[in-house]
Amino acid sequence: MNKLDFHRPASLAEALALMPASGDGGQAWLAGGQSLLAAMKLGMAKPSLLVDLQDVPGLCDIRVETGPDGAPALWIGAMATHASVAASETVRTFVPGLAALAGGIADAQVRAMGTIGGSLAHNDPAACWPAGVLAAGATIVTSQREIVADAYFQGLYTTALEAGELIVGVRFPRLQGLHYLKFEQPASRFALVGLAVAHSGAGQVRVAVTGLGMGIVRWPGAEQALCGHFGLPALSAIAPESLQALGDLHASGAYRCHLAGVLVRRCVAALTGEALPRPAPLEPSAVGPVPAPPDTEATPKDGFGGRQLLAAPPPQVWQAILDAQNLQASIPGCEALVQRSPTAYEATVKVGLGPLSVRFQSDVTLRDLQPPHALTMVFVGQAGALGCGQGTARVRFEPTGDGGTMLHWWVQVQLSGRLAQFGNRLVEASSRKLSEEFFERFGRVLGVPAGHLPPPSPWHRLQRLLARWFSLFRK
Ligand SMILES: Cc1cc2nc3c(=O)[nH]c(=O)nc-3n(C[C@H](O)[C@H](O)[C@H](O)COP(=O)(O)OP(=O)(O)OC[C@H]3O[C@@H](n4cnc5c(N)ncnc54)[C@H](O)[C@@H]3O)c2cc1C
Repeated sequence: MNKLDFHRPASLAEALALMPASGDGGQAWLAGGQSLLAAMKLGMAKPSLLVDLQDVPGLCDIRVETGPDGAPALWIGAMATHASVAASETVRTFVPGLAALAGGIADAQVRAMGTIGGSLAHNDPAACWPAGVLAAGATIVTSQREIVADAYFQGLYTTALEAGELIVGVRFPRLQGLHYLKFEQPASRFALVGLAVAHSGAGQVRVAVTGLGMGIVRWPGAEQALCGHFGLPALSAIAPESLQALGDLHASGAYRCHLAGVLVRRCVAALTGEALPRPAPLEPSAVGPVPAPPDTEATPKDGFGGRQLLAAPPPQVWQAILDAQNLQASIPGCEALVQRSPTAYEATVKVGLGPLSVRFQSDVTLRDLQPPHALTMVFVGQAGALGCGQGTARVRFEPTGDGGTMLHWWVQVQLSGRLAQFGNRLVEASSRKLSEEFFERFGRVLGVPAGHLPPPSPWHRLQRLLARWFSLFRK
């Protein structure tokens, strides 16, 4: 247990006065503790100040009020637990689908303690509430402002909240219907994939998908199809494979896309009362492993990989990736990086995502050097009591013919200790976020503005995983 200050204020004004306006990230609101305390136990969050919200009056309120547009709106206070939302007659009457969503979260113990505000602030990439809030087009009301859902969710564990900003409650507009379904990860009941469809009387339809890997997203293809005609026939031509989804231990990206296609049909059928046709048999390719980059030779059985297009020739990229200063500038949270020899580095990396923070000490050795064509990086990383990890990254530099380089990589990793127990969903998801940052930074180091890079594709999503390596096991 780390030393910390704990306060349990009895009013909103007292709570806000306790929280420094521009925190250094060491201060946290405490709701039900269902995510924060677990992260603290694992050493992944180390707040120096906890402000417990459970005695603040009014934060658990659930009511129908008049919204800013004069229409009735549903208000759910930030400290309303999932159980209280599920049981609320007000919610069941106003948007029954939200009560059902809350009732499907986790187990009875978690529902009794976990809150809508904590869930939205944490913004877990597989959480249920973000799907309901984004599909409904709700507004998150904080101690400082009102944030529409489209602007609030900003990716993995990332929201528009500023340090110390408190979610006071969420305002939901009147909807004609909202339905949320998830295909559960059976151990936690988090969504392997979860999907919410909301439609208003004005013919507007919003579809939000959770569990695809990088945080909650809308599905424009399904929305457009359903706006024309709200019913199952409108979904005949949607292309779930156009969604960007990442694979992990539990499911491949292709399987997650397939699930989204199944869930959107089931949600629409639930809202329209249409009968679902018998499901077509799965194409084997829809449930198979994520394919390797087509031009990666001899793809190993385990691991993951991707490609990155860089606007510099291979010799320049080769030099850049071996340069300690460039690496330090590219690795998110890299506090120190020392080159011990031409082929060995040591690095200290602090990984911070939302309330989570872990410091890794890593040794990196370069092997099988074939300049400027290929190399292998061997990583060994220690995260103290959390355990350690080791892995290899095979990197290949392919000239593109127009002076650029296509970087191909394939990574294999083994975790041990608590990282292995806890890490699969959280660490892998976190790694994707960090790898995205790594390649954005590396592109900038090479003088390639981010806008010149091609738009994200499934492969570009996968490449983010490489940054995990740099971030988690380098130092
Ligand atoms: C075993 C298990 C299974 C779960 N399964 C699911 C599931 O199936 N679906 C699902 O959606 N979720 C699931 N969860 C998550 C659960 O729903 C919690 O709601 C969520 O973890 C947030 O917990 P909390 O409300 O206690 O917030 P806390 O853990 O107390 O806080 C989480 C974060 O939010 C911040 N925070 C809290 N309140 C506020 C506020 N008002 N304003 C600003 N910041 C705030 C905290 O500082 C902290 O950073 C599961 C959790 C567990 C432990």
